[in-house]
Amino acid sequence: MKRAVFLDRDGTLIQERGYICSFQQVEIFPFAAEALRRLRAKGICAVMVTNQSAVARGICSLEEVETLHNQLQSALAADSAFLDALYYCPFHPRGKVVEFAKDSPWRKPAPGMLLQASADLNLDLSQSLMVGDKLSDLAAGKAAGCRTALVRTGCGCKTENELLEYGLSADMIADNLLQAVTIWLDGVEG
Ligand SMILES: [Mg+2]
Repeated sequence: MKRAVFLDRDGTLIQERGYICSFQQVEIFPFAAEALRRLRAKGICAVMVTNQSAVARGICSLEEVETLHNQLQSALAADSAFLDALYYCPFHPRGKVVEFAKDSPWRKPAPGMLLQASADLNLDLSQSLMVGDKLSDLAAGKAAGCRTALVRTGCGCKTENELLEYGLSADMIADNLLQAVTIWLDGVEG
């Protein structure tokens, strides 16, 4: 079984910009490619897991999300960085588009996307890490049995305050994805 780092998209891999439907709105964080390269060099899978309720809300189409993800992978590849897999959840219980207007076991804070990735890629979740900027990312990672890292990019600083407010914790709080990956790699090797 392989280890993985699961990473959220908006606010973790790319700038948080609300609902993003086209690649022109995407700004990949400058440290993201290096984080992915370090994982690949160690044989660790990088798996993006993102809630895209914009589909259920009628803001983006499935095709737009998939096109954007293909462009994201191409942009990363131009920087010698790769995602082993991308999962997204288009559902939302209060969506307007009938076929997507329901809850889903894939929607974070539920761990469905991580569990599916584990089955698809033969991942050892107990030896894996979930990185994100929201409480729902941490909850999904914990529910899947992974270690969790909160990053201070995106909504992360607000989330850090929420952790204190609600008496919750992450296994790690890092400034960004690269720092989280670097600290985690040092830990698993040390
Ligand atoms: Mg996020």
